[in-house]
Amino acid sequence: MISTAGFSGYNFDPCTRSGHQTSGSQGRRPRYATDISPWPLYAGRGTGIGPDLGMVDHVTPSKRSEIMRAVRSRDTGPELSLRTMLHRAGYRYRLHVKELPGTPDIVLPRLRAVIFVHGCYWHGHAGCSKAALPKSRVEFWRAKVMANRSRDRARISELKQAGWAPIVVWQCELRDPARVLRRVTDFLQQAEA
Ligand SMILES: [Zn+2]
Repeated sequence: MISTAGFSGYNFDPCTRSGHQTSGSQGRRPRYATDISPWPLYAGRGTGIGPDLGMVDHVTPSKRSEIMRAVRSRDTGPELSLRTMLHRAGYRYRLHVKELPGTPDIVLPRLRAVIFVHGCYWHGHAGCSKAALPKSRVEFWRAKVMANRSRDRARISELKQAGWAPIVVWQCELRDPARVLRRVTDFLQQAEA
């Protein structure tokens, strides 16, 4: 029986990682000392994973606006609609759980399942128009996105090894919320079985 009393009950032990902060959620350092660059989508949510200021300098004003819109949409737009739909369907979850690899957006402890809601650009959604690279400094951005993708893959496999079932929902998919809900609830039913 898996404890759902609190996240201290998880088997995943972040203390084995270098750079782990022991002061809980108030620290400002990234949890992972080896992070290449924190994702701007994670900035400003009190996660302690702020934007890499060196990287922000390279962002054009219009791109910066796009990123900031994405930051806001995280709690007000598509991700919220998915959360609302799941809640109405009877699922209970925790949000943005830093104790798990990759800080999953939605965590269902009882089902031992996690949902990532990924921005298509930063996480490199293959074949997606929202993932098109900017025209300038293409190689720079490609390297950033490839690093994010490989980190995502590593975190997914860490979660699986720790006994979690992960699923990724792409930002562009949320244009059709009902379809996403079907895909996610199918996944959760399998996790429950
Ligand atoms: Zn996409």
